[in-house]
Amino acid sequence: MSKILIIGQGVAGTLLAWELYKRGIQVHVNDGKLPGASSIAAAGIINPVTGKRYVKSWRFDEFYPVARQTYQELEHILETELWEERPILRLLATSEETNDWSVRCTQEDYISYLSERDHAGAWGPLLRSGFHFGLIHQSGRVNLPLLITKFRQFASEKGFFEETEVTTESPESSFSDYNYVVFCEGWRGENNPFFPNVPFRRSKGEALLLRFPGIPTDQLPDEMLKKTVLISPLGNGTYWAGSTYRWTFPDTYPSEDGKAFLLHHLQEMLKVPFDIVDQVAGIRPTMVDRRPVVVQSQIHPKVFMLNGLGTKGALLAPFFAQQLATQLAKS
Ligand SMILES: Cc1cc2nc3c(=O)[nH]c(=O)nc-3n(C[C@H](O)[C@H](O)[C@H](O)COP(=O)(O)OP(=O)(O)OC[C@H]3O[C@@H](n4cnc5c(N)ncnc54)[C@H](O)[C@@H]3O)c2cc1C
Repeated sequence: MSKILIIGQGVAGTLLAWELYKRGIQVHVNDGKLPGASSIAAAGIINPVTGKRYVKSWRFDEFYPVARQTYQELEHILETELWEERPILRLLATSEETNDWSVRCTQEDYISYLSERDHAGAWGPLLRSGFHFGLIHQSGRVNLPLLITKFRQFASEKGFFEETEVTTESPESSFSDYNYVVFCEGWRGENNPFFPNVPFRRSKGEALLLRFPGIPTDQLPDEMLKKTVLISPLGNGTYWAGSTYRWTFPDTYPSEDGKAFLLHHLQEMLKVPFDIVDQVAGIRPTMVDRRPVVVQSQIHPKVFMLNGLGTKGALLAPFFAQQLATQLAKS
């Protein structure tokens, strides 16, 4: 029977480990809890229609059902709430944006994803005036930090997780116990000697955690809200607001620049005061072509990589982890 080592337990490593474990394959996971990990800074939002032109995400109809089913399955296994389906209230600031939105709402491919709305719902009292509104459907959020923590506990209890950083200096000896080794290292994969040609273009992202002190708990909005930044309720009156995109940066930590950018865009939307309770940062493992990478090393045939989840790990990881697990289980 195959024995597989997974290096890195962000969302990629977690879901691959789950898919292999489910298939009865002997799996071992190592994670070094290294700075700059992306999954623990992310909101885990799945948004079907993104960007300034409101374009549907690549292969969304194929990936979304797999994601939903996988996270619901893991909720059951890990006995914790991880997945929620919530619409996104889209703020439209100009007549051009409002017109473009109206046109999209009538297009066949978009009818089940977008609609117009004439009010801001529970966000109304918190917002500046002058916006029009759209609603994005079939959006949701998976609590990635909780998924990673809970799965780590599960894997530790079953004896297949170890908190350790793996170095690639003497691979033959460290990998000799395994049939396959899969690197799920996120942005750190850019230095992986088994994959010298994978075109990484990592980007730093930051987010703030907020609370609205003046708003009674029963009046706090439970929809997500999006303009330049997205605000998502996390529960217990806390909101995640992000994020920034930086392709050059001195370190992996939260920065004053990141905070200033987010505050500027939050103040564009909100008229009420808010408290910042935390600031988080992570490095997205993005590729030049913005596509995920599921690849076998040309240097060492038993070594694979699952990476390149970029800005969409929550949506992409379940599908690509499933594909790779099926392939490894067959070989
Ligand atoms: C601020 C921010 C907001 C985001 N928001 C969203 C969002 O709303 N929705 C969404 O889908 N995506 C979002 N993303 C993107 C998302 O976080 C990524 O797509 C995804 O988390 C990448 O997961 P990963 O497992 O590939 O990498 P990571 O999460 O970075 O995990 C890599 C893991 O590998 C470990 N590791 C690395 N090298 C080694 C080694 N040699 N030995 C042992 N362990 C090692 C690290 O410790 C780490 O735990 C966001 C990202 C950021 C930064």
